[in-house]
Amino acid sequence: MVYFVGAGPGAEDLITVRGERLLKEAQVVIYAGSLVNPELLKGVREGCEVYNSAYMTLEEVMETIIEAEKKGRMTVRLHTGDPCLYGAVREQMDILDREGIPYESCPGVSSFCGAAAALNLEYTLPDVSQSVVITRMEGRTPVPGRESVRAFAEHGATMVLFLSAGLLKELAEQLLLGGFKEDTPAAIVYKATWPEEESHVCTVGTLKETAEKYGITKTALIIVGEAVRHRQYQRSKLYDPGFSTGFRKEAGR
Ligand code: SAH
Repeated sequence: MVYFVGAGPGAEDLITVRGERLLKEAQVVIYAGSLVNPELLKGVREGCEVYNSAYMTLEEVMETIIEAEKKGRMTVRLHTGDPCLYGAVREQMDILDREGIPYESCPGVSSFCGAAAALNLEYTLPDVSQSVVITRMEGRTPVPGRESVRAFAEHGATMVLFLSAGLLKELAEQLLLGGFKEDTPAAIVYKATWPEEESHVCTVGTLKETAEKYGITKTALIIVGEAVRHRQYQRSKLYDPGFSTGFRKEAGR
């Protein structure tokens, strides 16, 4: 059996209880060493084989999993954050399907949640934005043309950019073309929830210089939108005394 497990954004106590249990039971662990906190591997059982997939190809990863399966061993494939975002998990699952090897996914806390926590942000503030666009700049991995940052920026929704910390000049250009302003609030969160976490609030116009000032080139998320500064928003309807819900009657009724 194979478990795809979300390791969480970095802090060793931000893996789920289920993920931690699976890690403790695993006989083989293949972890994404570029971003998974190695402290998470402290609890693996004696004799567990541990591989760092940062040094492996897809073929090598799959060979390791298939070998383990032949020996009746349980494998945890440990991915950073939640495996469903930029996790390259589907290609592994398709091979397992072909091989007839069963697998299951265990979610994790994505880094975009870790970044919100670092800044105490609510991405979906009433009257500011009710949507979060999770996307990336095009790098070596292409992004479909209809999903350009510029096209998404036109919505004015809160945006969270993965894998883009090295492309901030181009990112700011796209954001401005899409209608954000030089002074639209933005933030750079480096290594959210790790001990070395840093978060810097800036603007679209100062993204690049802010990253340069703090020497941030990778392992960072960029957040864009008025939600970052939360200067003007409406209070929630849910907790408004003048609003009845299925659980609570409007005050005075
Ligand atoms: N599946 C992961 C994302 C993997 S893609 C998740 O759910 O978070 C790798 C990118 O995620 C990095 O380039 C960076 O942009 C972002 N990232 C991952 N962990 C991060 C962290 N702790 N802080 C800030 N960004 C992080």
